[in-house]
Amino acid sequence: MQNKWVILIVEDENGISNFISAILTSNQYQVIKCQKGTEAVSMTASYCPDLILLDLGLPDMDGLDVLQAIRQWSEVPIIVVTARSNESEKVKALDFGADDYITKPFGTQELLARIRTAIRHKQKVSSYNPLETDKIHIGDLVVDIIKRTVSVDGKPVHLTPIEYKIVLLLSKHAGKVLTLDAISKEIWGPYTNEQNALRVNMANIRRKIESNPAAPRYILTEVGVGYRMVEE
Ligand code: CA
Repeated sequence: MQNKWVILIVEDENGISNFISAILTSNQYQVIKCQKGTEAVSMTASYCPDLILLDLGLPDMDGLDVLQAIRQWSEVPIIVVTARSNESEKVKALDFGADDYITKPFGTQELLARIRTAIRHKQKVSSYNPLETDKIHIGDLVVDIIKRTVSVDGKPVHLTPIEYKIVLLLSKHAGKVLTLDAISKEIWGPYTNEQNALRVNMANIRRKIESNPAAPRYILTEVGVGYRMVEE
């Protein structure tokens, strides 16, 4: 029998916790649960879960502090579950090392997709071999890492070097949201803040790769947070 992925649910509202737990159990995940931040930290250490769903509003600790505590020693994928539509908090969670976030109320399929993406991405990063993955396919968009080219529907797309770097970065993290700050630092270095330049570049990229730049198919905007390359 295949080993099941173990998911730790950190959530103080029983109704929500049971709801998530039922979804995950019926989708072949093994579930462990707790309601407090302190328990989340100790259970992460003792059970080494494969993924954590972390509610930000906990009775004893701020979820962001739990996140930082766990990130001091563990790279376990963490998806922050939040009722808050506060964008700056989502950005903070991602900058503190969360892999993704999901806003309540969310659908079953959305939750399962986020979990699959976070676990798969973690596996990909730990077994990354550039010789095996020389091309990234996202629908009809292909990034050729060796030739440093991008094509859509088999037609070459002429990107500037910076535009290429942005598309490559987002493609490597397909399915995940990257914050404006994280993208800016990765492309332009840690000592500048080029979020405006990023927006300008993104508009140009969309004109080149999207058939309808106003309704993008490949690179989605997470308002106030960042960008997410779809996963196909
Ligand atoms: Ca809560």
